[in-house]
Amino acid sequence: MSSNQELSPGVMRYIKEAEKIVLERKEYWNRMKKAKFDTIAVHGLYSVEEAYSKNQGAIIEPLYLSASQCFKDSDELEAALAYKIPAWIYTRIANPTVYYLEQTFALLETYGTELEASACATASGMSAIFLATEPFLIKRTKKLNEKINFVATVQCYGGTYQLFNLRRMEERGIEVRWVKNGADLDEWEEKIDENTRFLYGEMPSNPQLGIFDIEKVAKLAHKYEIPLIVDSTIATPALLRPLVHGADIVVHSLTKSATASGYIIGGIVVAKKNITTNIDNQEMRENFGEWVKLWPFRDYGPSLSPVDAIFTLAEIKTLRIKMDYFSQSSMKVAQFLESHPRVERVDYLGLPSHPLHKLAKKYFKLVDSIDEKGNPVNRYGHLMSFNVAGSAEDTRKVYDNLKLIFRATDLGRIKSVATIPAISTHQQQGEEARKAANIPPQMIRLCVGGENPEDIIKDLDQALNSIK
Ligand code: PLP
Repeated sequence: MSSNQELSPGVMRYIKEAEKIVLERKEYWNRMKKAKFDTIAVHGLYSVEEAYSKNQGAIIEPLYLSASQCFKDSDELEAALAYKIPAWIYTRIANPTVYYLEQTFALLETYGTELEASACATASGMSAIFLATEPFLIKRTKKLNEKINFVATVQCYGGTYQLFNLRRMEERGIEVRWVKNGADLDEWEEKIDENTRFLYGEMPSNPQLGIFDIEKVAKLAHKYEIPLIVDSTIATPALLRPLVHGADIVVHSLTKSATASGYIIGGIVVAKKNITTNIDNQEMRENFGEWVKLWPFRDYGPSLSPVDAIFTLAEIKTLRIKMDYFSQSSMKVAQFLESHPRVERVDYLGLPSHPLHKLAKKYFKLVDSIDEKGNPVNRYGHLMSFNVAGSAEDTRKVYDNLKLIFRATDLGRIKSVATIPAISTHQQQGEEARKAANIPPQMIRLCVGGENPEDIIKDLDQALNSIK
């Protein structure tokens, strides 16, 4: 980026004019910071003024399909390409519709706090994970043999496991040190050394619902001057906001509960301002979300389609209500499964029998909700898994007999979906890694959708009874 002294008076004029827009946006951001969660989800940073002055009064955020932006003259072009004025230039770099989504997520993830954050929407959850972690995996010295490592919970999505274990470690020699028990703080600390670049955890994990104490792990990360990065896809900001508990960066697959209708693939990186890192890059530290968008994201190219951004914007407007309903139905289904003789074990964080229930209770709370006694309302999302009391073959039989619930390697849907992780999402990890992650062939992962829970229960009951 060139310094302002090197710019011509014509370019400077555009920069001066843009100050007004920057200020207006800042004022509106500050206004929305004071709004309630649902209000932010519905409006985001698309204000009444923005609708009238820039979008012909359109009530809903407009869809900008044009791949690129034109400029009034060479001075404006220069100012935009130097990133000196708000501009979107080219949809691989930025896009107005995507911008509304990014701003909404940054507001939602910092809801109820003074925290400032910025976001970068991406083409998938995997590209969000890649983008959030890649900038830290660089050398800090000129030594040829400098060894780089990072520490992550082994209970994680199969794709994340492959990215970390195969692409990063086996192919590139960047060591991933797996934490087997995320709830054990000592295990995290033992794995950190001076070459560790970040801590990473899925909260909760897919499919095992592993969790960890974000506040404690964030403190640990900061003690070693490294960031904590959390994948909070399964919880969504309606149930958990990791930045508020001390994490530095949050990633989401927008493909899941954020867009329950199931029409899009997308992801997002949200970072608070002034993250902790031992990488010597001031711009990156001060505003990781914006920095990553302006530079590495632009160069790697995993941009989100504006069509997918508009779908996501439409869906997150009702995120809290949906997560509440899904969670309540899931609780009923989990209780039913727990009492079924053909089920050996149920993993659902909302069940008091779950070993991590107490810790889950600390973190998973439906935003802006209190019960009749004035206590926060716990909600645990719609992902669960259960182990069939029988063989791997019996498990396939139960699965094949499902009539209402869809067989798919998917989750977070308005329709209930189920999979057998050992032969699908976690197939490529191999037997040993599945054992470490506690994924037996009898496990069925179930994500409860928006149907009436009585019908879901009926379907599960008849499928389980098929192995009598
Ligand atoms: N993170 C979690 C927890 C997931 O469950 C998934 C996909 O299932 C991903 C990330 C990857 O997201 P995507 O499929 O959008 O790339």
